[in-house]
Amino acid sequence: MKRNFIEDSINYLKFAGKNKDFSVPVESLKNYEIEIPKPGDDIPKQTENILEKEYKSKIEDSNIVRDTGSISLLREDWMDSDKMTVLDERINKCSKCSLHKTRTNFVFGTGSHDSDVMLIGEAPGSEEDIQGKPFVGRAGKLLTDILKAINFTRDEVFICNILKCRPPENRNPLPEEIVKCEPYLMKQIELIRPRFILCLGTFAGQTMLRAREPLGKMRGRIFNFKYSDVNAKLMVTYHPAALLRNPNWKRPTWEDVQLFRKEYDKEKKN
Ligand code: URA
Repeated sequence: MKRNFIEDSINYLKFAGKNKDFSVPVESLKNYEIEIPKPGDDIPKQTENILEKEYKSKIEDSNIVRDTGSISLLREDWMDSDKMTVLDERINKCSKCSLHKTRTNFVFGTGSHDSDVMLIGEAPGSEEDIQGKPFVGRAGKLLTDILKAINFTRDEVFICNILKCRPPENRNPLPEEIVKCEPYLMKQIELIRPRFILCLGTFAGQTMLRAREPLGKMRGRIFNFKYSDVNAKLMVTYHPAALLRNPNWKRPTWEDVQLFRKEYDKEKKN
């Protein structure tokens, strides 16, 4: 099923945070192609006038379970960046949401800028905020080990987060923060052009899939992710911080990352 993310995203901007009840089984996402417009794409005029009621029925019709919006309606200079380094320079002083007031560093992401593999977490924690790098605390060390176990080094993948700045006290990201920050992630995806995306944790999984399902229902499956000319296989697994709290989740995580690697190897062979 294809969804019109231009409409979804515009409406999300109107509805951010208000609609929390649209939940359908993640099984309905089976053949789901996640297609997202580029920031600054022309928005068809009529989509700006969709009524709340129509939007609601649209959501129900198209099995949208959660949408977070992914576009900014105004063209901004960072959108034209043709390199990750340029993008970093243009966005790392961002002050679009209140998180800029409390951050120490903007956490752009680290690793290879033309990797086939991208890992997406939730948001920087305190150590990440201090160092300006993602996943460098305790959970980050575990992530390094998980990568090692499937024969990837941190340098050959790209690691980043949905939010680039730390939410105070590590609280959950707010919808308005996601709406403002997610376009940066989408631009990173456009520039890196990954073939494989691994979402770490419920929040990253729900945001990328526009789902409201618990992690247990999103994991262990391969989704097709489409954005611009990027076509990637997307998987969701447990967040390493969750594994530190609950070692029972190590096994399913292991199964997920093995499958992820297998898919990667399969493609490399062809
Ligand atoms: N948790 C995340 O989701 N991201 C980080 O960068 C660190 C911890």
